[in-house]
This record gives sequence, structure tokens and C-alpha cells, in this order.
Amino acid sequence: MQNNNNKELTLSAPLSGPVLTLGKVPDAVFASGAMGDGIAIDPLNDTLHAPCAGVVIHVARTGHALTLRADNGAEILLHLGLDTVELQGDGFTVLVKEGARVSNGQPLLRYDLDKVGQQCKSLISLLILTNGERFQARPITLKTVKVGEPLLHIVSRENTSVNADVSDGPEAKGQVRIAHRGGLHARPAALIRQTAQGFSSQSQLHFAGKSAPCTSLIGLMGLAIGEQDEVQVSCQGPDAEAALQALLSALATALPDDHHADAPVSVATNKRPAEAGVLHGVCAAPGLVGGPLFRLHAIKLPSDAGGNDPVQQKQALDLALKQVRSDIDATLNQAQKHRNTDEEAIFAAHLALLEDPALLDAAFQSIEQGSAATHAWSQSIDVQCEVLLNTGSALLAERANDLRDLKQRVLRALLGEAWHYQVPAGAIVAAHELTPSDLLQLSAQGVAGLCMAEGGATSHVAILARGKGLPCMVALGSSLLDQAQGQSVVLDADGGRLELAPSAERLAEVQQAQIDRQQRRAAQQTQAHLPAETRNGVHIEVVANVASSHEAADAFANGADGVGLLRTEFLFVDRQTAPDENEQRAAYQAVLDAMGDKSVIIRTIDVGGDKQLDYLPLPVEANPVLGLRGIRLAQARPEILDQQLRALLQVSPLQRCRILLPMVTEVDELLHIRQRVDQLCVELGISQRPEIGVMIEVPAAALQAEQLAEHADFLSIGTNDLSQYTLAMDRDHAGLAARVDALHPALLRLIAMTCAGAAVHKRWVGVCGALASDPLATPVLIGLGVSELSVSPVQIGEIKDRVRQLHQAECQRLSHDLLKLSSAAAVRHACHQHWPLR
Ligand code: PEP
Ligand code: MG
Repeated sequence: MQNNNNKELTLSAPLSGPVLTLGKVPDAVFASGAMGDGIAIDPLNDTLHAPCAGVVIHVARTGHALTLRADNGAEILLHLGLDTVELQGDGFTVLVKEGARVSNGQPLLRYDLDKVGQQCKSLISLLILTNGERFQARPITLKTVKVGEPLLHIVSRENTSVNADVSDGPEAKGQVRIAHRGGLHARPAALIRQTAQGFSSQSQLHFAGKSAPCTSLIGLMGLAIGEQDEVQVSCQGPDAEAALQALLSALATALPDDHHADAPVSVATNKRPAEAGVLHGVCAAPGLVGGPLFRLHAIKLPSDAGGNDPVQQKQALDLALKQVRSDIDATLNQAQKHRNTDEEAIFAAHLALLEDPALLDAAFQSIEQGSAATHAWSQSIDVQCEVLLNTGSALLAERANDLRDLKQRVLRALLGEAWHYQVPAGAIVAAHELTPSDLLQLSAQGVAGLCMAEGGATSHVAILARGKGLPCMVALGSSLLDQAQGQSVVLDADGGRLELAPSAERLAEVQQAQIDRQQRRAAQQTQAHLPAETRNGVHIEVVANVASSHEAADAFANGADGVGLLRTEFLFVDRQTAPDENEQRAAYQAVLDAMGDKSVIIRTIDVGGDKQLDYLPLPVEANPVLGLRGIRLAQARPEILDQQLRALLQVSPLQRCRILLPMVTEVDELLHIRQRVDQLCVELGISQRPEIGVMIEVPAAALQAEQLAEHADFLSIGTNDLSQYTLAMDRDHAGLAARVDALHPALLRLIAMTCAGAAVHKRWVGVCGALASDPLATPVLIGLGVSELSVSPVQIGEIKDRVRQLHQAECQRLSHDLLKLSSAAAVRHACHQHWPLR
């Protein structure tokens, strides 16, 4: 069946036999893609058929190959066997003439299977798209096919563009060497995609005779571009030159955190002498744990006889994709809230993969041909996994695991299966291969460790396991899957060993070490509700950053001394209308109620910049991060701030509430709002206005801390923005993430200056940026004069424990010396020396 809308075309199999990607063809020229993109078949029949209707534009003199031009303009070379030109026509009978019009499936050439098979290097035959600059080939299947079955999807490159009009615009071309460590794997590819999406031009990457649109993650990864490979970039459209420059720079700038994110933590390999009762593997996340083995099984699909209703199946797939997208969105939001950048990058890449035209087109195409949505999706993923596995790059091969993650999630949504497992806490999970979303669930269920028969130490699962401190081993081999459910094992990830029959003493020893660690954590937890004092009796408030009453309840249960920062944006974003005064008051009240008798600092709305509200059109700005954001919104829309202030002045008891103003840059802003709060208090009959604090998150505020402290009741340092504005580095820039470090000596100087300025007016200083949650920074902040740390709720116990180990005088002495160091790395190194982490 063909779908020919003059742009798209499905080619049917010209031969019967197993299908191979070009990478597997034992011929360097075809395998490199130098002849063009396409596919290969190892034929079992003796006649080559037309894969589509078209005109024969060339027949090789020696009869072993011919070229067709399809009605949409795609030119397809059909080449029978390898090096068959040397047979000089012996054994081949061409059944058509040059210039003839042929129909789909028409026999084109017959050959003597035995004769040609014996005399040539290989019978593997090729179907190559020779005008790849205009069209793209996407395999539909990599299984064995029969003549006439759907094989390859041909799409016009104009069709793959978001904006088809750009094909007439100016063109810009350039070339560049890839700086990304390990080549163009998922995260750099996601960065390239994101960069390309910022322009209306259509951009392509070209390498080794193949091309891919920059908007397709899979396409980019499928080019198998290695580190230091030279690639060509072409852009066409109104902003082609700007797009080209942005892409060249993104390709030539390595992601700095690539080094630790992708680097395996151990070089333990499974190539070592066998040891009885031990499986050897590769350490993906360190640790030593013992416990019962729990086997996880993969999804099984029901059989599909085909002939399904395409409309119904398409709807089902659309719905499932929507559901998975919204699940991943939720995971992403959590990761963003907790500033878990690894998790954020991985799931953002999953979201991009889920929109990838290479996956969606192939799946919907199969549905058109009668496949069930489950099978169409499954097959489309399998084909792309195979493409990645065939690139010959270990790093790209591991990205196939991300595709399998999406396969499972979408299949579960289609089958109406919950994608939740029930695994006993303390178990060591064994599986063929786990995916990033499996890992998040398993970690939430309190498993002790993970082991996989396959997988790699640079996979996204490994990165996540390391982030969660969950010991994990990969590449243990298939005998892992033969082990009995529930048997006791020891997972020694540091040593790359899974001990299958540990002695009672060994188990006890491992369990003791585990218990010691847990006890330390539990001890921190039992002390979490007590005030935190340094060894010399200085009290440090350890409070929480929250964004909802739900998170406030969590913080309270974890022992928070209060809320140090309620980000109120949560009430305003992702909705079509503004919350009214009553809704806001109820939301703030709920946070106060969740915190018992503790105090709550409510920050006024910090939108603008990159956080836009659908119902609040603000002028388009050239530099939104330097525009109308934070308290500056009061300048543009005073009524919004007024309404919020009225709502929060009505919470009860008001004495437990403090107001915090974001992005203040000068004293007048504070005076203006303070005056307005005073007026509202009079209007509402309030005799005592709540305390008003100022966020120190731009250098101007830190430099003027003394002047601000004269009129503010307290100062709270937002190290996230203070880093961004001091270092002139976008806090969300993937390529700069490792350098936006708030322990930079310049930041420490601004913090010291803020504390000194506040001390002149006897005001206290807190830190509510992410630096407060970093235990390495605790002694530095205390030493510089900070007395309140607002941290993520899960870290309350740990940070309080850290405070209790410190002596303020020593912190003061050592931290002032850090200001003289030359870099954030030097500061971190010195902190490890002075105040080692336990
Ligand atoms: C900060 O900038 O450090 C801060 C706490 O505010 P936000 O992260 O909400 O911008
Ligand atoms: Mg901020």
C-alpha cells in the first residue's frame, strides 16, 4: 500500500529476506552512507521487484543494478549483491528498459540465485536513496520481510520542517569540529535541537554522506558523530546566518558536566577470572549492600493479527502519548523544583524524543497499514533502537535504553496498565535492563540496590542512580536473570561483584555497614526537630524552601524551623485566569496552617523574565532576564502586587508571616512597597505590619546591603540569581551549568558584604538559594555571618547535623581566607580539607 501525497512515500520490499541497516552491510562505501541513506536485504528469492511506481532512469550495463525515479521525485538505486559488477552481467536478466514506467511490485530483474550467490562477495542487496538532499529515508521494519511488505518511509525534507515556507529563504553553510565528549549523544543532541528550535530557519547536520534535520534527536544521534568529527551545517530561512552561528557555537562547545555525568565511576569490568558464586559486572553507581534479590519482568504484548481500525488506533496512540507526556512533565517539574539538573536534562530529552518525527511518523504509518497502536509503537521504537545500536558508538547504543523507556511507558498507557511496581524496601532489584523512569519509582520505594544483565555505566539510569546514592551494577550477563527470586545476595558495586551465595558472616558484615549508614541518617532525622546550634552554642535557623502547602507539610514533618521561602509563583503559572484575592489568601493560609506555630516567609510574585503568565501579557523584551521581573512588575502592573499584599495581610496569625521582596536593586523600591503595605494595613485595620525583608540576588543589592538593611527587617540571599548576575552566566544554560557555582570567591565576597552591611543595623541574614542546601557550604555561610539557611525539605536533618559539628569562630577564621582564592574549584577543595563531609 502506498501513501503518495507527492511528498511522502512508503517503499515496499523489493526482495524477500532479513532486513539490515546500512551499518551492517560488509562494504565500507555502502555502510558509511557515502552512497546515500537506505536499507539492505539479504535476499531469499530470485527476483527484484519495484518498491514503488515510477520511471526506470538508469539500468547498469552489467544488469546488476538499476535506478527508479518515484512520482514524488525520490531517486532510488536498487543494487543486487556486493561487488556484482565484476560478474559482467553473468546470471542477471533485466526485465525492463531505461525510460520505462513501472508499477509498484512489478518484477524488474531476475538473477540466478545459486550462480550469483557462489561468485559474488555477498548477496546482500541495497536500496539507496540517491537524492538525499531532498528526501529522507526512515526504516519501517528491521525484521524479515516478504516482497511487497512496507519497508521504508520516504519523507520530503521540506515536509520535515516546522515552517515549510523557509525553503525559499537565504541559505548559510558552515563546518565545525564536534567538541562534545563522546560525540553527539542524547544531551548534546538535545542542546542542538533546542538551539535550532530558537530560529525559524530549517537546519540540517551533514556527516559521512548522511543528513538529519536538527529538530530530530534521533536523526542527529543516528548520524553517529564522534568527538572531534567534522560536520557540515546548513540552514535555510530568514534567519539562516544567525541560526548557523548559534549551531556552530553549540556544536563546538563541550558540555562541561559531560565529564562527570557520563564518566563511569569505576573501571571494573566483567573481563576477569571467574569466581565461584560471583557475577562480575561494571559499577555504574558505587556502594555495598546486601538483601533479597527481586526479579523485575518486562511487559509482554498480546499478539496482533493486523486489520485494526486506523482511526481508533491513532486516537489510542495520541491519548497514550499525551498521558506519558504529562507524566514526564510532572517529573520534570519536580526535578526543576528540586534543582536536580541531571534528572531535568534526562527527562527533557525524553520529552523531546517523544515528539521526534522519526518515531511518530513510523508508528502512525504502521497504524495506517492496519497495525495495532501497541505494535506500531513498539516496532517504531525497535527500529530506531537498532539504528542507534548499529552506529558502532557505545554511548549512542546506551541511548537506546531511553527509547525503550518510552516504549514501555507508552505501551503501559495503551494497555491501561499501571506502570507502578511493588518492590519490597531493601530489595536488590535484578532486571534485563532498567530505564530512567523505572529507577525513579524503585528509588521511591526504598530499594537497596540495582543490577542489570545489560546496560552501561554511562547510561542515564547510571547517572540517576549515582545522584540518588543507589548502588548499581550493569553488564552482569544473562545468568543474572536465572537467579532465584528472594535469594540473599551482596551487591559490591565498588568491586564490580554480585555475590550470589554470601556466607552468613559476609551478609552480616555488609548489613552492619549498611545499618551504620542508615543509623547516621536516622540519628540526623531524630535530631531534625531540635534547634541546630554550633559547638559553641550559636543558633542557626534551618528552614525550608517550599512552593505549596503540601511541600510545607513535608518540611514540617522533616523538622524545618519554619519556611524560609514560599515561592508564590505556583499559584499564578499554568492557568488561564489570575487567582483572586480569596484564592490567594486561602493558599497562603494553608501554608501557615501546615507549619504549626512556625513562621513563614512569603515572597511576592517573581514572574516576568522567563516565567510568563498566559493571562498577563507583558511587553516583549529583548533580554527578559534583565527586564520587568520580580519586584519590577509592580512598576508595570501595580494592581497585581496590591492584590497579593492584601491577600497575605489577611492570613492569621499575621505575626507568623513575613514578606520577602524579590529582585530589589535599590532602596526606593523597598521604601515604595513598605509604604504601600503600611497603607493597606490601615485599610484592613491591621495595627502591626509584618516584617518585610529584601532578597539579595543582584550584585547592586549586595553592594548596597547596608543601605537596604537600614529599612528592611531582614535580608535573604538568593544565590541562584546572584550567581547568574554576578558571573554573567545564564543559570539555566546547559553548557555553563558546571561553572555557575555560588562558591565562586566573587559570590563569597558579596555574601560577606551583605552580612557586614546587615550587621551595621543589627539585621539578620539568611540564604534561600541552592547554596544553602549544599553541606559543603554550611561552614562558609556561617563563617561569613549567615544565621538562617533555607533548604530543600529533605535536607533539614542533614544540614542541622552539619551545623552541630561546627564551631563558629573557626568557621569565621577560615571562611574569610576563602575570599582570597582564585576560583570556585579552589574554594570547594579548601572546604573539603577544612570541613570534610562524613
Ligand atoms: C534565588 O535566586 O536564589 C532564589 C532563591 O530565587 P529563585 O530561585 O526562585 O529565583
Ligand atoms: Mg531568584
